[in-house]
Formats: sequence, C-alpha cells, structure tokens
Amino acid sequence: MPRVRRESGRLKDVPVAGEKKVLLAAPRGYCAGVDRAVVAVERALERYGAPVYVRKQIVHNLHVVRTLEKMGATFVDEVDEVPEGAHVVFSAHGVSPAVVAEAAERGLHAIDATCPLVTKVHREAVRFARQDMEILLIGHRDHEEVEGTSGEAPAHITIVDSPEEADVVEVRDPERLVWLSQTTLSVDETMETVRRLRARFPRLQDPPSDDICYATQNRQVAVKQIAPQADLVLVVGSANSSNSVRLVEVALEYGAKAAHRVDFASEVRQEWLDGVRTVGVTSGASVPEVLVQELLDDLADAGYVEVQAAVTAEEDLVFSLPKELRREAGGAMDARARGGRVRA
Ligand code: SF4
Repeated sequence: MPRVRRESGRLKDVPVAGEKKVLLAAPRGYCAGVDRAVVAVERALERYGAPVYVRKQIVHNLHVVRTLEKMGATFVDEVDEVPEGAHVVFSAHGVSPAVVAEAAERGLHAIDATCPLVTKVHREAVRFARQDMEILLIGHRDHEEVEGTSGEAPAHITIVDSPEEADVVEVRDPERLVWLSQTTLSVDETMETVRRLRARFPRLQDPPSDDICYATQNRQVAVKQIAPQADLVLVVGSANSSNSVRLVEVALEYGAKAAHRVDFASEVRQEWLDGVRTVGVTSGASVPEVLVQELLDDLADAGYVEVQAAVTAEEDLVFSLPKELRREAGGAMDARARGGRVRA
C-alpha cells in the first residue's frame, strides 16, 4: 500500500560522499502478542465502555499507551487502584498469581492479555517447581515479565540478571537446576549467561524449548544483517521496551558505527546524520508501523529517499483474543476471536 508522506522539513539534506540510503529491517514492529493485547483493550472498551482499567502499560510503547488513554483506557500500577467490580486488563507481560488473586478478591472483571509465549514460561516454571527443581530465571529483575514469572514459584526461582551474576549466583543443589529466561532478551547475551552457569553447574538443564520468543529472535537476526552495512542504526521503541533496547545493543555489537533508540521520529538529531550514507531502520515488537513510516518520511527529507528492504524472515503468527473476550454478549463467537489484527 502506498504511504502518504508527511513532510516535516525538520531534518536538513546535508550532502555526504556517496549515495544516501535506508536499509529497512524486516521483520520489525508489532508481534502477535502485542497485537493481541492492544486489540484486547480496544475490544474491552467497545464492549464495556470507558473506563477500562489496565494494570501497567499494556505493552511498552508510549504512543500505544497514549492512544489507548485517549480512547478511554485508564492505566494503573496495581489492582488496588481499580474500583471494585470494574474491568481490568492484565498486560502482555503477564502477572503473578498473587495479582490474579487480588483482582478476584476485589471482585474485578479481569481480562488476561498476557502473551501466550509468556504464559508458556509461567507453565514451565510451575512444572519445574512441582518437580522440586531450582529455576535460574535469566532476565531483568525489575521487568514486569520477570516479576510475574517469578511470582509463580518464588521459593524455587532465583533471578540471574546478567552474565556477571552467573559467576556468583548461589544455588541450593547443583544437581537439580534448570534455567528459563525472559522472552525479550538478547539471544547472544543469554547464551553467554548460560555458558557461564554451565561452567559452574555442569548438570544445569535447558528449558524444553526457546523462551526468548520468535519475535525477539527475528528482530535481532534482521538487525544483525543490516548493522555491518550501516553508518547509523535507528531503532524505534520506548526506553522501557526490553526488546527495543536490546536491538540497539545488538546493532552496535554487529558493526553499526552508531545506533540510537527513539520513541518518535522527532527525536532524531541532525548531528546523528553527519557523514552518514546508510541508515539502518528497525523497530521493537511493541511499535506500530506508523511510527516507522514517520521516521522514513523525516529521513527522506534529509535525503535518504532510497529505501531497501532487508528481509530475513516472514511472520504470520496470530494469537486468539483472551478468552474473556472471545464471545459477544449474546454468546456468538467474536469476529476477531481467532486472532488479533495484524497491522500494516
Ligand atoms: S515480544 Fe514475544 S513474548 Fe513479548 S508479546 Fe511479543 S511475541 Fe509475546
């Protein structure tokens, strides 16, 4: 579909030696779990009317949160801020059983928009805890997803936040250990953490399947392809978006001369483009495509008119809506029940 160019004229077209161009990574942007969560809030608003409360940011993107706020969503930090009996949506990052119980105690109508791939990690944690295994959960201690997963079996889970922590973490029984991970980490860094853990605990078991999700992995593979050719990589994504922040790190690691994360095109600074011929562009899994298109418009103003797609994978995964939203009030199956909208 042709896009309508938005000319801001904010960035200047300063000549550089050679041709200017953009390498546009694909896949980028919205993943199936984010799409499902955003559609869940929209659908809840349509069905129940405003306000619909959302515990934490539904997905880690400023633009998405502001847009949903305008539609009538009210974002809260904890369920005790939600009036009794109201509708509350749990974010894509998941919640611990304690949060679910608290919502039930308050008589809230909860809609669980936890990404099914996060739920999969929760289930693994519960299963290994039942087997009395000790779980080393690789992930960022202060991230909502890690809080939710570790809440499934707090007595069995120890968080390992970095490769350095792998060198010092203490375990109860090195014979009964398994590692799991947050879904949005750097694949390479996680493997380094596992390598260090295994050097200390050779009987460490692997998870039954990858915990780092397909979307995180695909976006990292795509940025690895464009980074070596890029003088600058621009990642659209919010500061609290783990997978977006990882994309900046991966770009630098794989040879980009510079890399920056921006929430909006308007944050790109003219000086970042000094001497830059090739700009790599990508976006995190919680970023709507409109924000990338705005960035491309601004880059076109700066002379980066040629856009080459760098496609490393095709994605067609779609998740069904949360079960609380799958049926209309009359009992008929909701038209979007079998999948969230995949946005252009
Ligand atoms: S990034 Fe991965 S785990 Fe997170 S919502 Fe998207 S698909 Fe799910």
